[in-house]
Amino acid sequence: MTVYFHEEDLPADVLAPGPVAVDTETMGLVTHRDRLCVLQISDGNGDEHLVRFANGSAYDAPNLKAVLADPGRLKLYHYARFDLAAIYHYMGVVAAPVFCTKIASKMTRTYTDRHGLKNLINELLGDDISKAQQSSDWGAEQLSDAQREYAASDVRFLHRLREELIPRLEREGRLELAQACFDFLPTRARLDLAGWIDKDIFSHE
Ligand code: MN
Repeated sequence: MTVYFHEEDLPADVLAPGPVAVDTETMGLVTHRDRLCVLQISDGNGDEHLVRFANGSAYDAPNLKAVLADPGRLKLYHYARFDLAAIYHYMGVVAAPVFCTKIASKMTRTYTDRHGLKNLINELLGDDISKAQQSSDWGAEQLSDAQREYAASDVRFLHRLREELIPRLEREGRLELAQACFDFLPTRARLDLAGWIDKDIFSHE
C-alpha cells in the first residue's frame, strides 16, 4: 500500500480498469476564488495517487483528464458536488459518471445526521481516519507527510464504502432514486458555479 506523489499530471497507465475514487483539496470552499491544489485518485487496489498543481498551473493534465472524462469509468466521491465543481472549473472536465457516498449515506442511514466521511468509515467499515489536516494549507510549496496521508485516506475507503452502501440502497428500495441523484450531480455542480450555490431551484420561493 503506497501513496504516490506527482506534479501536474498522473503518469500514464498507473490505474487498473474499473471505478476510481476521487477527491480534491483546494484553498477553501469558494470554488472560483480557492484554487484546486491536489487531486487524489485510487483504483481501489491499495495505492493512492496524489497529483499536486502549482500556483498558476494551467491544469494541462492529459492523462488525468482522460481518466476523469472517461464515460466508461465510474468515479466515486464523498460529496461529489464540491469535487465536480472544482474539477469542472479548473480542469474543464465533467468527471462523471458518479457514485456519491454522502448521498448514499443520507438515503440509507436515515437514523443519523452524521454523514461525514469519518463517521461513515467508522460505522460501515470499523476503520478510523484522521480529519486533522482537513483545514490545512494545501497551497504550500511542500506538503507535509501528515497532509499526504490525510489526502490519501480520503480516497482509500470509497470503493469499500460503495460495496457496503449498494446493498443498503437495494434493501431500502432506493437504488434507482440514488442513481438518478448521482446522474444529476454534474448539473448541480454547474448550477453552483453559475451562481445558484445557496439556492434550491426546486423550491417554490
Ligand atoms: Mn479530502
